[in-house]
Amino acid sequence: MKPTHIPGIYTEKGKFFTVNPDSCKHISVYGEQLKTINKTEYRSWNPFRSKMAAALLKGLKDVRLTPDSTILYLGAAQGTTVSHFSDILTDGVIFAVEHSPIAAKELIQLAEQRKNIIPIFADANHPEIYKTIVSKVDMVYQDISQRNQADIFTRNMKQYLKEKGQGIIMIKARSIDVSLPPAKAYELVKKQISEQKFTVHQSLILTPYEKDHSCLMVSPS
Ligand code: SAM
Repeated sequence: MKPTHIPGIYTEKGKFFTVNPDSCKHISVYGEQLKTINKTEYRSWNPFRSKMAAALLKGLKDVRLTPDSTILYLGAAQGTTVSHFSDILTDGVIFAVEHSPIAAKELIQLAEQRKNIIPIFADANHPEIYKTIVSKVDMVYQDISQRNQADIFTRNMKQYLKEKGQGIIMIKARSIDVSLPPAKAYELVKKQISEQKFTVHQSLILTPYEKDHSCLMVSPS
């Protein structure tokens, strides 16, 4: 098991892993493989279940996460990817926003086991709703399949991202416009983000892990 450029993320045989905290020993969150080496339990990060793992495998670089980082995570669902961020941010916090009551229920259960996850049952279209809970963060991460995903992303970044922070957005082409070829949908989102005083540093297609999805790494201009 070798460390990567991101503290808390490890790699072995072309796969990524994070470390399960002692409080969650032997607990697999979404059926991922657990592997113990020298008393440390590693959780395999499945790129077919988590777009962040897919993006890392596709070459996402310069991710500036440290154990005390804070993340605003939009579209947390049941917490599959959130759980890996929770492993990485041992002294940090993940503000996890989810608007589906069914998904939020499981997210809340996950947050009961992992104290660095703050679940927020809210619509990310209205970032002002959670202003009393969320502080300025080092990263805004978004995985929301909505037509206006660029607008949701830039408004949340303007309100919550630190000046030197980073944004990561996972784009689902078909949610933008089913009639557009995926490449055109990605370009449209990129343009919408760039027009809001943000710079897109990297753009990755997530094939073969996710069909018709891309990932952008963004920071304030
Ligand atoms: N990011 C998750 C992961 O990797 O584990 C998967 C996210 S799933 C593709 C998208 C989630 O976004 C769904 O759970 C959906 O309910 C949520 N969502 C969609 N629109 C939203 C909104 N406006 N506000 C908050 N959550 C939203």
